[in-house]
Formats: sequence, C-alpha cells, structure tokens
Amino acid sequence: MARILKKPKYEIVGEIQRYDEIDNVQGRAALEPGSARWKEYYTRHPELEKLGNSLVELRKMKSPAPPQDAMLAGSVFGTIDLMARDETLGGQPSPRKIEMDAARASAKIKGFCRQLGADLVRIGPLNQAWVYSHVGRASYPEKEIGVPIGLPHEHAIVVAMRLNRRMVRCAPVLPVEMEVASKYVRLAVLASVLARYLRMLGYSARANNVRNYQLIIPPIAIDAGIGELSRNGVVISEEYGNAIKMNVVTTDMPLDHDNPVDIGVDEFCQDCRICANYCPVNAIPRGEKTVTRGIRKWKINDAACYSYWRKCGTDCGICLAVCPWSRPRHFPHNLILRGVQNSAPFRKLAIKADNLFGDRKRDEVPGWMEKQPEVWKEILRRDHPWNHRSS
Ligand code: SF4
Ligand code: SF4
Repeated sequence: MARILKKPKYEIVGEIQRYDEIDNVQGRAALEPGSARWKEYYTRHPELEKLGNSLVELRKMKSPAPPQDAMLAGSVFGTIDLMARDETLGGQPSPRKIEMDAARASAKIKGFCRQLGADLVRIGPLNQAWVYSHVGRASYPEKEIGVPIGLPHEHAIVVAMRLNRRMVRCAPVLPVEMEVASKYVRLAVLASVLARYLRMLGYSARANNVRNYQLIIPPIAIDAGIGELSRNGVVISEEYGNAIKMNVVTTDMPLDHDNPVDIGVDEFCQDCRICANYCPVNAIPRGEKTVTRGIRKWKINDAACYSYWRKCGTDCGICLAVCPWSRPRHFPHNLILRGVQNSAPFRKLAIKADNLFGDRKRDEVPGWMEKQPEVWKEILRRDHPWNHRSS
C-alpha cells in the first residue's frame, strides 16, 4: 500500500534551475545547422556542438518500418500536431465564472476525466520550477523557438492512461510506438476537452499535449501522487508501473490537492538494475544518483537513448517492457508487491528471483501489422532482452 507523504521523495540539493526546452535532446536535434538559433545555442554551449551535428544526422534517418505501418504512427502524430496548437490547448476563459467548492470541483473533475478514459487522475500543485523557461520545439510553423514561457497557474491535474502490455512487449519495434501514439492522441483529446471545460466555467486552463508541452511532466506527476521516479527516468505508479502515458492540465481554478506517495520504487531501483542491464546502448546508469539542476536522481544519457530511437524508428521501450513494476497486477503479483514494499530482505530476494526467472519474453507483432523488415530482425536478434543479458 502506498504511504501518503507530506512532500515528495526526490531529493532537492540546491537551487532548481528552470529547464529550457531547447536543452532537450529532441529540441537540439530539430535545430537547423547554421541558423541563427543554432549559432546562438552553440555559442553558449560550444562543448555540445559536435553532439549537435550527430543529432542532426540521426534526425535524417528514415524509419525501417514498411511504409504502410510507418504511416499508422505518422497518421496519429499528424493528428496530434493538429491538436498541439496554442489556441487548442489554451485560450481565454469565459467572463462568467461559476463558483464551486474546491472539494466538489476536484471530485467532479476526476469523475469527468475517468468518463473521458483516464485510468489515473491526481491533482497537485504546479511548482513553477517545473515550467520550461523557453519554447524549444516548434510544433507548427508560426510557433517561435526561444520565446519565454509563463504559466501562472497554481494547480495541475495529471491524467494517465495505461499502455497495452501486449504491444509494449514487442519493444523495440513498431507496435510499442503505435501503442504510445494511440495513448498520446487519446490523452490529447481528454486534456483538450478538460481544459476547454474549465475555461467554460470561467477559469484559465491549459492542456499540455505531446509536441507542445510548457512543463516537465514527471516531477508534476510525482508531486500530485501518481507515483515515484525510477532509475530509467520515468514515473512508476503503484497501479500500472511505468506502463503509462500522461498529460497535465494546469489551471487557476481552486482545487484540493492529492499527496505525494511512497510506494517503494526508489528503494527497489537502488538494488534492481534490470532496465540498465537490458538497455542496448547503456543509456541508463547502473551506479549512484548524481545531481542534475539541483535534484539528486539517476540521469539517463538522453543522446544515446535518442540515437537508438532513430535507429529503430520507434521510441524503443525496452526499459518499459522489462521493468518488473510493469507486470499485470494479478493476485500473486500483488502479494509480491506488498512484500517488496514492507521488507528489505524480501525486496532483495524478489529482485534476484526476477533477474533469474522474470518473464521478459517478446510478443509477436500483431497480425494486422506487417512482417518485420530485415533491419528489425537484426535489431531483435542482437538487442532484444529475450536474446541478450549483460551483467
Ligand atoms: S528507451 Fe531504449 S534506449 Fe532509451 S533508455 Fe530505455 S532501453 Fe535504453
Ligand atoms: S527495471 Fe528495475 S531499476 Fe529499472 S525502473 Fe524498473 S524497478 Fe527500477
């Protein structure tokens, strides 16, 4: 059972510096070599320019997916792009405000989100430290990189949808990408509808659909009690592990907050290195946490991870597929989870047993998708956890 906390478990060890979205590896990969933005960025960060050139080369790589399947994901992301415009995500609230008690409004919003398909809904504070300082990715032509971001809301509604494990277990080839894209588009609809509803009630509200985020989702989700930060840099929830995707709607509507939780992930990840051992490019640290922008955490090598994404033409997902927390919550698994949460010796034993006997069998690509091209067969032969274990 989750322990309810007064403050989140992650450790702040200095001043948190707000994150410029252009520092994100995908933001840098989108910079045009020789452009004013490129020059400005690499004058500030000359040590990163060589890496920047290799990111541009990676960006040019074509997906190895057969075209009729590459277009499946392309059609979903193309639709998401239409839903990522600022005027869809935000806008002016109605001048006529409907007052609501915070507890009643919170309950209504959670019910509405579940009605719209959310598997998890939590409400927390919006810490301004988690709002990007500047726009770093242009999701449509008129959107300008480098513009400062202000998001003066106090509340964050975090919605999550669980991923279909059957599709995730095909990682790192296309079904995992298809599953992630499917959840992103449904979350984009959900969050856009919710933000519109709040504005109709007379409150300022903005959705954060993929391709047009104004904030960093994981720490906001942790503050709201969705789960804990893991070794591979994502949020693990008690209900569905890390097999979730999220969206955040921020608002100035008075709402009650949920508390952050302790579900035992941090202690588990200290001893478990399964994701790090199976990552084909060693992007996940096996050692201790380090301090990044004022927070002590495991820092993944995002450039190495991105390079593998581009090679596969998907978001890889191996670290999601192999994590013991992403298993279905059957009765025996729930029992093990309770043991893991309550006893350090049991936890260590469970990790050893999972390393030896854990089911990490790959699922076959569903029949409605095309057969694997040679390049994927080679990737699966060499990199997939089923075939590969490093220690
Ligand atoms: S997504 Fe793949 S490449 Fe990236 S960290 Fe996870 S396992 Fe490694
Ligand atoms: S595989 Fe192990 S170390 Fe990695 S995120 Fe899951 S629990 Fe943590």
